[in-house]
Amino acid sequence: MIIYGWKAAHLRSTQSKTAVCPSCKTQGSTIISVFSRHVHIFWIPLFPYGKTGTSQCQHCQHTMKVKQMPEEIKREYKNLKMDVKPHIWQFSGLVLISFLIAWGIYSSKENDKKNLEYIGAPKVGDIYEYKTESGYYSSLKVVNVSTDSIRVVPNEYEIEKKTGIYKIDKPENYGEFSYGLSKQELIEMFTSEEIYEVNR
Ligand SMILES: [Zn+2]
Repeated sequence: MIIYGWKAAHLRSTQSKTAVCPSCKTQGSTIISVFSRHVHIFWIPLFPYGKTGTSQCQHCQHTMKVKQMPEEIKREYKNLKMDVKPHIWQFSGLVLISFLIAWGIYSSKENDKKNLEYIGAPKVGDIYEYKTESGYYSSLKVVNVSTDSIRVVPNEYEIEKKTGIYKIDKPENYGEFSYGLSKQELIEMFTSEEIYEVNR
């Protein structure tokens, strides 16, 4: 369950010198406040979402929402509203999300680099995750490396989802049968994304 909604945080209050309270007719007793609303998910502020306000008479405690304010108070409220900016912390979620996206891009680039390095210099024990001819996913285990070729043992199982490879990547699933691949073929399989991940 995702808990989300919006909250309002106080920005600034000012006491009007001229406003007359519509309830008790006192002049200069009205305090006008501006709040910045923000959307939150699991109580983490995501981003600011408009402003709202209230006014309260210090004399009779009469409180009004923006809609209920007489023109004079509403004008003062609007001026105050233009003057204030949302709190920086109300952007926390947005900053966090941008950071996660940047981190995701960075780590996927690092992973590409790592894969390329491993494909270029295979080692016995490397596991290649690849797409099978039937559109499923399986793995190959490197059992021998020579100057210009390698020998791999195919996994005897295949699986529907890429993310499920770990379920079939077990020593007992690699049988006796093996075949050779030239390093050129290996690189081609990688550049065509038939092999899409190398684990070492
Ligand atoms: Zn009043």
